[in-house]
Amino acid sequence: MIFFDIFSFIFGAAVGSFLNVCIYRIPAETSIVKPASRCPSCGHPIRFYDNIPILSFLILRAGCRDCGAKISWRYPLIELITGLLALLLFSKFGLSLVFLVFFIFAAVLIVIAFIDLDHQIIPDILSLPGIPVFFLAAVFIVKLPWLEALIGLLVGGGVLLAIAFVYELITKREGMGGGDIKLLAMIGGFLGWKSLIFVLLFSSLAGAVVGITAMIIKKQDTKYAIPFGPFLSAAAVAWIFWGEVFIRFLIYRN
Ligand SMILES: [Zn+2]
Repeated sequence: MIFFDIFSFIFGAAVGSFLNVCIYRIPAETSIVKPASRCPSCGHPIRFYDNIPILSFLILRAGCRDCGAKISWRYPLIELITGLLALLLFSKFGLSLVFLVFFIFAAVLIVIAFIDLDHQIIPDILSLPGIPVFFLAAVFIVKLPWLEALIGLLVGGGVLLAIAFVYELITKREGMGGGDIKLLAMIGGFLGWKSLIFVLLFSSLAGAVVGITAMIIKKQDTKYAIPFGPFLSAAAVAWIFWGEVFIRFLIYRN
């Protein structure tokens, strides 16, 4: 069985390599399939044997083979995260269509999180088609009761829309981005409405901790904007693994 675990990790890391391309090219609105990856510094195409997830970064000691320009540690980090997620999801769901759907969902969240981190935007091209596609996948492949998914989709979009509306009404400035609203609709439509309690709770807790820490370190005022997408994404992935435990905890406490 260890063979399958190793294989799922390698599969995930290879997909992570593609996610790196998506993270850099989707905001720039360039093709994600052509041309082949080049060194951003010297423009030399990256050799196939220098394109091995994680390993190439270590072998090349974080530098381009041609010009020696530093390669960001984020490339292997994203490959590692994607590889580990593939391994964990595979351990949970086994070799199945359900595994594949959850893995694609996690992969889309990784791309969204890092694009949001870099540019403070969540591209509609990911979240908008994601809403119906993951809703249908939840109902027909994951077999989540359709009402649970539909309420998740509507409440996910609606709750943040309401918060954003009230916030703007009071402060007269835009708080929650429209991208976050579409993202939460996508998450709720795929994971069901119960996940929203968990996702909103933990993303705002983590967001507050990071936000306050950043404010103290950078000595900046509240205008210092921290993108919310990465927190929503991380909480949604956490729900996949700890959601059941969380719900059981809620039920038995009361
Ligand atoms: Zn180079």
